[in-house]
Amino acid sequence: MKQIRDEVLNLKKSPLYKYRTQNKFFPVIGEGSHYAEIMFIGEAPGRNEAQTGRPFCGAAGKILDELLFSAGISRSDVYITNIVKDRPPMNRDPLPEEIKIYGPFLDRQINIIQPKTIVTLGRYAMGYIMIKFGLEDQLKTIGAMHGKTFTAKADYGKIKIVPLYHPAVAVYNIHSKDALKKDFQILQNFII
Ligand code: URA
Repeated sequence: MKQIRDEVLNLKKSPLYKYRTQNKFFPVIGEGSHYAEIMFIGEAPGRNEAQTGRPFCGAAGKILDELLFSAGISRSDVYITNIVKDRPPMNRDPLPEEIKIYGPFLDRQINIIQPKTIVTLGRYAMGYIMIKFGLEDQLKTIGAMHGKTFTAKADYGKIKIVPLYHPAVAVYNIHSKDALKKDFQILQNFII
């Protein structure tokens, strides 16, 4: 993980590198247990995350904390990261070339942690992970896929993939928050 952090810190070929250094931002590598059974994958850091180097520590993070608590999951028992490790300007969606540059770091993190369950937060993480594990034929809209469990084969064994809505949608939309809360309950089945 330290190697990954060092490589991302010096990732001058990233279109987000200059924006990071000019703003004295940090890359956000990930946080949590390296022995986690469950890995959560978001999209990209927001302002709070880039200022602290910690994933999901702003408004969306507050919701994620609430959801983890409601499902009886301790944040320190899971691993939380993003596909894109640097903040896109104005919190815009990540671009395909950014996902392409940062994706291999996420791939390595998955192989280091070897989670039994991967929970994707939002459509970008969902698309990346479903395609990475050869499930592109089952890819639908997030509205149709959230809360469902898919099985796949990782290099280290069988895994479950659970796509969920991004917690940020719940900041403004109470209906999505209820759906997220309900979906989080099924994660209880995956804690050992
Ligand atoms: N949104 C994300 O996708 N990731 C974060 O770390 C914070 C907000």
